[in-house]
Amino acid sequence: MTAPAPSDTLMEDIVGLCKRRGFIFQSSEIYGGYNGFYDYGPLGVELRNNIKQAWWRDFVQCRDDIEGLDSTIIMHPKIWKASGHVDSFSDPMVDCKESKLRYRADQLFFAPVSVDGETIGYVSVVECIDQQEVAEKAATEMKRKMAKQGELDTIELKEYTEAKPEQYELIPSPATGKSGSLTEPREFKLMFETKVGPLANDAATAYLRPETAQGIFANYKNIVDTGRVKIPFGIAQIGKAFRNEITPRNFIFRSREFEQMEIEYFISPSADWNTLHREWIDTCIDWLVSIGLPREGISEDIHPEDKLAFYSQATTDLMFQFPHGEQELWGIACRSDYDLKQHQEHSGKSMTIFDETAKEKYVPHVIEPSLGVDRTLLAVLSAAYTEDEVPNDKGKVEKRILLKFSPKIAPVKAAIFPLLKNKPELVEVAKRLHKKLQRRWNVFYDASGAIGRRYRRQDEIGTPFGITIDFDTIEKDGTVTLRDRDTCEQRRVTEDELIEFLEEQING
Ligand code: ATP
Repeated sequence: MTAPAPSDTLMEDIVGLCKRRGFIFQSSEIYGGYNGFYDYGPLGVELRNNIKQAWWRDFVQCRDDIEGLDSTIIMHPKIWKASGHVDSFSDPMVDCKESKLRYRADQLFFAPVSVDGETIGYVSVVECIDQQEVAEKAATEMKRKMAKQGELDTIELKEYTEAKPEQYELIPSPATGKSGSLTEPREFKLMFETKVGPLANDAATAYLRPETAQGIFANYKNIVDTGRVKIPFGIAQIGKAFRNEITPRNFIFRSREFEQMEIEYFISPSADWNTLHREWIDTCIDWLVSIGLPREGISEDIHPEDKLAFYSQATTDLMFQFPHGEQELWGIACRSDYDLKQHQEHSGKSMTIFDETAKEKYVPHVIEPSLGVDRTLLAVLSAAYTEDEVPNDKGKVEKRILLKFSPKIAPVKAAIFPLLKNKPELVEVAKRLHKKLQRRWNVFYDASGAIGRRYRRQDEIGTPFGITIDFDTIEKDGTVTLRDRDTCEQRRVTEDELIEFLEEQING
């Protein structure tokens, strides 16, 4: 599989396909939709479950050093005080007073427009794949309108967070194109608040968790005390997280309700965290490739030291070439003993562990690989989306849309077709095989329409294998036709060979 070329239409194509075929819908669509929330339809929920199951199998079940957890979404509010979220989990926000639109100041870019060194105005652009081009076009247009002679200087875009106070008034709002309406950036709290219990006073304020990680730290002591673990060990959790994102966008990439797959991997304070961090980065890349992402679409963004939180030794984000550009998919952070020490201090409970090998007691340090389920799903969809041309039943070459999902995570693993629906002998064998395979995998039975059309419908939802029951099956040797989604190649196999092949491809 090759890395998808970033393009605006790819995202539109994916969104269209997801709705048309029942992968993902805008939440509350019958009421006009609800920004930042998405529902997963029949195929989406299968794909999502397969991604989560693959992660859980590979990181929890197949490893002896990682234990699983499922903590609550709403936890004691003191947890969020101790973790620092109540005071500082926020994004810089800027308002446009005229349009009433809001932007994340670190996703809004501006640049002075200068001709031969003389500033003639400012341009602004909301973060996008071609932001430099958009800004340059706007600058050229400004120069033309103002009938300025001379050379346009290079446009150097900066985040709005870096704007000087005297520039706020001069930078145009991306909504209106006019200056004077943007406010200075201010911190916007991202945690959703709710009230717990019958009294709606301040003491009843609680939060929907903005990450699953704190549920792990809050249960660390329980898991250590249960006596199953020794350093180094990890605790893994999959679950919903909520952030009141200022500008949810790019489909499911940035939403207000999403799901995370997080691990806290506890290590000795004297361990070589650098090497362990590198090992985690490599393990995470290998896993992404194992579920079908192209290696060349994944890159590493190493956070510079001056951008790290004071307690963090290192953070590397795995970036993926999404349709809207290269963006964070998986954050892998070395967080020292900060979180456990914060909870030790705020709860008064000891977070130390006795290291049997080193014969010493300490609060462990932690490496945190944190991955979004929805972003993984979008990455998988973008990598899988393909258009090619194949001959139809009559031999005429036609455009085809297909999703090249790895069989491991494909929502439907195989489709079973009787060649003709009005031949009971064919239908009977096909239905029997469907029932048999259904006990192990999510498979689909389809008897209606020309066989080529039926293949095409499955290609579009990424079903890797088509199995056709034809006259040779019932009259000759019992073999079935097995068709490959990507190559369209067909071969005859016995039922035993079929099951062995599927087993190898899906579970192997
Ligand atoms: P960003 O900088 O994109 O806002 P972040 O650095 O705040 O992300 P983390 O707090 O490190 O993200 O969260 C870990 C992972 O959770 C991210 O790598 C991403 O996969 C996922 N994630 C975070 N926020 C969202 C969101 N609003 N929608 C979907 N997934 C998200």
